[in-house]
Amino acid sequence: MTRAVNHTRGKTGKHGGIAQMRQPRKVCVVGAGRVGSTFAYTLMQSGLAQEIVLIDVDQDRAIGEAMDLNHGQFFAPPVAIRAGDYEEVADAALILITAGAAQQPGESRLDLVQRNVKIVRGIMGEITSRTSEAVIVMVTNPVDVLTYVAQEASAWPHGQILGSGTVLDSARFRYLLSVHCKIDPRNVHAYIIGEHGDSEVAVWSMTHIAGVPMEHYCQRICRRACSPADRDAIVERVKDSAYHVIESKGATYYGVSMALERIAAAILRDENSVLTVTLRADGHYGLEGVCLSLPAIVNHSGVARVLDAQLQPAEEQALRRSAQVLKDIIAGIEPPHENRPQGPPDIGRAGCARMPKVPRR
Ligand code: NAD
Repeated sequence: MTRAVNHTRGKTGKHGGIAQMRQPRKVCVVGAGRVGSTFAYTLMQSGLAQEIVLIDVDQDRAIGEAMDLNHGQFFAPPVAIRAGDYEEVADAALILITAGAAQQPGESRLDLVQRNVKIVRGIMGEITSRTSEAVIVMVTNPVDVLTYVAQEASAWPHGQILGSGTVLDSARFRYLLSVHCKIDPRNVHAYIIGEHGDSEVAVWSMTHIAGVPMEHYCQRICRRACSPADRDAIVERVKDSAYHVIESKGATYYGVSMALERIAAAILRDENSVLTVTLRADGHYGLEGVCLSLPAIVNHSGVARVLDAQLQPAEEQALRRSAQVLKDIIAGIEPPHENRPQGPPDIGRAGCARMPKVPRR
């Protein structure tokens, strides 16, 4: 799948008047909570961004996080960091949405859906009334469903709105395989696809270590028994990772922030990197009407192309089951109230800004 993304610059925009020139290294982060601010911290140190703007319904929080980050300016590559409002998105190259309620201990990502759908629709109204130029990366969970909701809330090409998807899950998979095989995780190539959640699928048929297929590696190099039960145990640990972290410390934010920095790099540097981001299935593996993760080429336009890699029949079946889980959720989402003006979300009713937070430790 290739979708041309229309990044018309300096011409009359669809919002009337002169569209603002997209600043190629300006990043807006909507939601300055644990994930948003940790991502800003990671991004600040990467030197990738020239400007980082934190936008949050809790303005004091955004101001505080920006101040705290700015106090580290002396130790980082030059970057302008500030708290701002939605006017800032008008010339952003990249907008990450991390706003919303976080997963509570014992709560599945999909339980979050109705609360966060409302928030995301409100935020998309704010963004699309000011720009059509940026790439949007959804992070808020359930990320696959909310990427779909964000795409439906705009007329933008689907590839321009993607989700962080299973980039983190694939990294967890690589890490656990690297421990199992006693090898540098950077030499492990492995993908988790489908839902970022319980139905996600480990693609063993595409797993290799420095070009050596996993089976050959286990038999000839590692020589440790790697039974189907061992493999299943690794995949279960990948799936349970977030639950364990949340049980232990309330939330996940370091690993995901590094995954987001990787995605941001692919977009800001036009890298054409293969990442398992959330994207709209467009006939891939017979799937439509759903967003889920597949390995895809990511560049300055967002998702440039999906890798239609050949899967084993069992993997393809598992992917279809995962897609169905997401489709069922999507089917249950309340449609937007057409008559309600698109404005700031009703935070009081959605309850997310005021809901009791997971204790910070
Ligand atoms: P958090 O509660 O620390 O932060 C959320 C922030 O969003 C808060 O600062 C809140 O004020 C803000 N917010 C709420 N409604 C808003 C609105 N309408 N506009 C602007 N800001 C708003 O939560 P967190 O731990 O940072 O997690 C954020 C989201 O990221 C959650 O949905 C969580 O499940 C998700 N997450 C995703 C991944 C992934 O891999 N996709 C990983 C970790 C967390």
